[in-house]
Amino acid sequence: MKIILFDIDGTLIKAGGAGARALNHAVQAMTGHPEACRSVQLQGATDKANFENAFKAGAGRKPTSGEMTSLTKKYVNRLPVEVLASVKAKKYCKVKGIEKFLVKLSGRKDVLVGLGTGNLKEGAFIKLEPSGLMKHFAFGGYGCDSHHRSVVLQKAVGRAARLAKVKIKDNEVFVIGDTHRDVEAAKEAGYHSGAVMDGFGDERLLMRSNPELMAKNFADLTPWLIWLGLEKDPRGVKRGTYICPDSPIEHAHYGRTGLDLRDIELGMKELRKAKRKITGQP
Ligand SMILES: [Mg+2]
Repeated sequence: MKIILFDIDGTLIKAGGAGARALNHAVQAMTGHPEACRSVQLQGATDKANFENAFKAGAGRKPTSGEMTSLTKKYVNRLPVEVLASVKAKKYCKVKGIEKFLVKLSGRKDVLVGLGTGNLKEGAFIKLEPSGLMKHFAFGGYGCDSHHRSVVLQKAVGRAARLAKVKIKDNEVFVIGDTHRDVEAAKEAGYHSGAVMDGFGDERLLMRSNPELMAKNFADLTPWLIWLGLEKDPRGVKRGTYICPDSPIEHAHYGRTGLDLRDIELGMKELRKAKRKITGQP
């Protein structure tokens, strides 16, 4: 069984800033600060962490747990209004090719598709509503599960295991996101990582986080399906844009930038030099 976990913002959809506006609204109602999110890096973090940071930006101190509950309630109440405003302003969109991809994955019996998102569960459902994509997701890990994305992903996998009544190995889990934080969380949990560049991620940070697969979006599904091991690559793995998921060494050698290969070669040179020094052999 393969488990595929999708991030929401920038990976499935772009909600036109609805989340930030709803959070600004909630923080303003509690602290009077109108633009608290301006100084907070929201992308790739969990809602819980974002709420805390936005409150801190507004009030100049950490929220109490009661204030966090109240802030969350205000955010969730405001979010539908802001999502609708984005839809009306034509600022709400799906990431290219995602629907085709999800339909393809949903048709398979050896795949379970879920959410792995920093959004609160309610927030996730509200944000996805206009996209019509929610029907493809049977389970998920959410921002309300933990501050840490890797724990969010592990929660999702636990739910998938209970749902399918099977044991799931780490190398059967594939995480797809749009920021380096998605990639880092996947790696921390021991899962495969793939990234879309059309989302909100910083391309340089994304490159540095070194996901197994990077693609602009889902317009061309072939690299995604090969990465997931659902289609065979007729030309082998030495393509440089994607890799065989079970061979991290090949990834290092045939990764997207080629920089990995140079790093490894330089490292090997140093290692050989040090070995020669120690053993005295030429
Ligand atoms: Mg995202």
